[in-house]
Amino acid sequence: MTRALIIGGGFGGLSTAARLAHAGYEVELHEKLPRVGGRANLIERDGFRFDTGPSILLMRDIIEGAFREVGADPDDYVTIERLDPAYRVFYPDGSGLEAKVDRAEFREELDAIEPGAGERFDDFARIGETLYRGARKHFVERNFASLGAMLRPSQLPQFVSLRVHDRMHRLVGRHFRDPRLRQLFTFNAMYIGMNPYTAPAIYALLPYNDTVEGVYFTRGGMYALVEGLERLCLDLGVRIVTDHPARAVLHRDGVAVGARFDDRDIEADLVVVNADWPWAQRELLGRTPRSPSGRALRHGPSALNLYLGVRGGLEGLRAHNVVFGGDYEGHFRDVFAGKVHDGPAYYVHVPSMADPSLAPDGHHVVYVLVPHANSDADIDWDAERDRVRRYVLDDLAAKGWDIRDRIVCEEVIDPPRWAEEFSLDRGATFGLSHGVSQVGWFRPHNRDPQLQRLYYVGSSTHPGAGVPMVMLSARLVTERITGDHPPVTVAERLDA
Ligand SMILES: Cc1cc2nc3c(=O)[nH]c(=O)nc-3n(C[C@H](O)[C@H](O)[C@H](O)COP(=O)(O)OP(=O)(O)OC[C@H]3O[C@@H](n4cnc5c(N)ncnc54)[C@H](O)[C@@H]3O)c2cc1C
Repeated sequence: MTRALIIGGGFGGLSTAARLAHAGYEVELHEKLPRVGGRANLIERDGFRFDTGPSILLMRDIIEGAFREVGADPDDYVTIERLDPAYRVFYPDGSGLEAKVDRAEFREELDAIEPGAGERFDDFARIGETLYRGARKHFVERNFASLGAMLRPSQLPQFVSLRVHDRMHRLVGRHFRDPRLRQLFTFNAMYIGMNPYTAPAIYALLPYNDTVEGVYFTRGGMYALVEGLERLCLDLGVRIVTDHPARAVLHRDGVAVGARFDDRDIEADLVVVNADWPWAQRELLGRTPRSPSGRALRHGPSALNLYLGVRGGLEGLRAHNVVFGGDYEGHFRDVFAGKVHDGPAYYVHVPSMADPSLAPDGHHVVYVLVPHANSDADIDWDAERDRVRRYVLDDLAAKGWDIRDRIVCEEVIDPPRWAEEFSLDRGATFGLSHGVSQVGWFRPHNRDPQLQRLYYVGSSTHPGAGVPMVMLSARLVTERITGDHPPVTVAERLDA
């Protein structure tokens, strides 16, 4: 059989492993950490189950497709539920609202902030839907054979309809005047590590996505989805080895032939690298990473995460909560300028609101994410960790959730830790930035330009970051591989 070696067991690696095994390859996956999941990892402590990275699950059809497209029923592996409300937001002036699933109720929430905004939301959502469906069809769910294939004249109407010339904050600003609603419909750019003030208008598909298409939750937390995929891989015959970091991709005469590990070399007919693309270029191939057009790469920001096991209730918080700071624009300016920001916006995830089994009785899992400059910034991270923790806990206390004396266990992941432990270049939690010059054909390709039989999957490759996008990148790289090197059975190999 054709042997495929996958380096890395994040969502990208796992999903590719399942697809290749289903297509008839013999698949081995090697993961450097003690368990698979990558950024979507798990910290288990004192009866609490903390997801480390992704928490907001969008695009259910793509998630389920990762199972269905390999002949499995997703319900056999994971329980997916829609959250209502999708999230709750809090503004510094004490006001707030909930992104309710029921459109009439959501419109009322919007009208309470800005009269008439509810009706204008319908128009905004229509534009969001056009962007969402158009982006998926024309750019996201396809491999580009060449730059010409992406930029050919017949694509021009798509570029115009996808508003690549416009900015997200300007599009939102044309529909909503109140700064609070402008924040509500632009903060979502951070789902892929973009600055709402510079993000192209096409990313208005994100607020459409979370308010209309829905935010989903996997029972058991995000790691339950990782476990479901891991089980799917095992059921399809994938061999998974953890605690086993690759040290180099091996190649001979311009062809990838396997990978070097501390204890041995493993040969394969093709290699798929799921480790963060720029990091892998440097560490596994000894190259200076550059974009397909030869330009220097632009990395996205990072995050400072607190994981808190909390005793007692948290009345009023939902599973997903966004707390806006006093200077929304300034926060993003600082994050992208590599600076520390006083009074940042932050996100609080309390998954135990949706699934109490994630924490001991009478306790909650609290995950706090503060968007932050990446580890390239000249910042005293020890001091910064303490400062951010104090700020968030004091701010939550001022808002009525004083958990300062109720924390029974805690952990922090700061940008340098994202970089070192999770092998993320510059600790960029969402990988390379998603500006117009780094998407589509301009994003690192899933097929290596120099070495045959070497492929990539994951956040920093096409189509981009986020759990559903990474699962799509697995579908796209599988299409490439099956097109380039259809699986050969043992009998065929013996016949040859
Ligand atoms: C804090 C945070 C919050 C996020 N929030 C969301 C969210 O709410 N919703 C959402 O959809 N997305 C979110 N994301 C993004 C999402 O987590 C990622 O896009 C996705 O999980 C990336 O998957 P991946 O397979 O590309 O990479 P990774 O998860 O990075 O997987 C790569 C794997 O390769 C392994 N590896 C690296 N080097 C080697 C080596 N030498 N040998 C063997 N293995 C190696 C790594 O250990 C890792 O397991 C978030 C990310 C972070 C960090």
